[in-house]
Amino acid sequence: MRLVVSGAAGFIGSHLCDRLLAEGHTVVALDNFLTGRSENLAHLAREPRLEFTKQDITERFSVRGPVDIVANLASPASPRDYLEYPIETLDVGSAGTRHMLELAKRKRARFLLTSTSECYGDPLVHPQVETYWGNVNPVGPRSCYDESKRFAEAITMAYHRTHGVRTNIARIFNTYGPRMQLNDGRVVPAFLDQALRGEPLTVFGDGSQTRSFCYVSDLVDGLYRLMLSDERYPVNLGNPREMTILEFAERICKLTNSSSSIVRMPLPEDDPRQRKPDISKAKNILGWEPKVSLEEGLKRTADYFQGRVLGSLAIT
Ligand code: NAD
Ligand code: UDP
Repeated sequence: MRLVVSGAAGFIGSHLCDRLLAEGHTVVALDNFLTGRSENLAHLAREPRLEFTKQDITERFSVRGPVDIVANLASPASPRDYLEYPIETLDVGSAGTRHMLELAKRKRARFLLTSTSECYGDPLVHPQVETYWGNVNPVGPRSCYDESKRFAEAITMAYHRTHGVRTNIARIFNTYGPRMQLNDGRVVPAFLDQALRGEPLTVFGDGSQTRSFCYVSDLVDGLYRLMLSDERYPVNLGNPREMTILEFAERICKLTNSSSSIVRMPLPEDDPRQRKPDISKAKNILGWEPKVSLEEGLKRTADYFQGRVLGSLAIT
């Protein structure tokens, strides 16, 4: 198959490209490097089945030749990034998603949207099931991301209902792994960076808020299965192993043999109190569930970050 992937130079996008190529497919990769890096695709520079174009998908564009699947991953994803680029985030979720849907419609291709657990906002239903409509502050600082993704889901369903585009919607929960940016502010790179440098780990609030972390290869496997399925309504993809952020900080220190202390910092506005996916639907429909344990996933990620942290220590 020939696939178009937006956000291909990002963390998840680059891993998805690897998986698609490993499955024998051809990839047209698009990215404008807003939050991604060419380095994430550097290992594919000589891969003839990957064709990269620097493209902002909020602008009009076309892709030559047949396309079987359009996968729309482009969007800032870390709270630090979308707070820095709120308008770009809203634009890519709205105009950008529409352009990718138009491409799928023109090419009679399938369409996959990577949505988010943020659609549930600060959830009042726990664990989160796909039928829960969420508790989102539409005017808070995170609204640029949450509402952009909710709009993206709505327009995806509208293209399905109006134009018969074969669409899929993945609601991704916190995912981590190599190629995340050390300084993107998300908790996994932040804690690993701090632990490896021997600096205090910055726990926001009292650390009693919960998250559930999914290793990137598991997530990509879920995306791949979903894009080949006929499920039109959202499907949660994430790891249901839930823990408090304080517990997570302690685990990171242990794993990295770090003697870092923990410092408390103010809790960001509208930071969700709890998050854990109900993945029954993905299990039933896709036969999917995560396989990589948190310990193994964190070890692989720490190995990746270790070289970077040591490199930057050598420079300073
Ligand atoms: P990322 O920031 O590493 O990757 C996003 C990519 O999109 C970047 O390479 C960026 O340059 C690109 N991009 C942004 N705006 C663009 C535009 N207008 N045109 C072209 N490219 C553009 O983030 P990620 O963690 O890899 O997230 C990928 C997708 O998965 C996003 O849609 C995100 O919302 C979703 N998601 C991720 C997580 C997670 O935990 N990582 C959780 C939920 C949802
Ligand atoms: N967090 C933290 N310290 C950090 C970064 C994040 O305590 O240095 C917390 C954050 O407040 C949130 C959780 O870790 O409760 C996950 O944050 P992240 O930015 O990774 O993703 P989110 O789930 O909020 O989108």
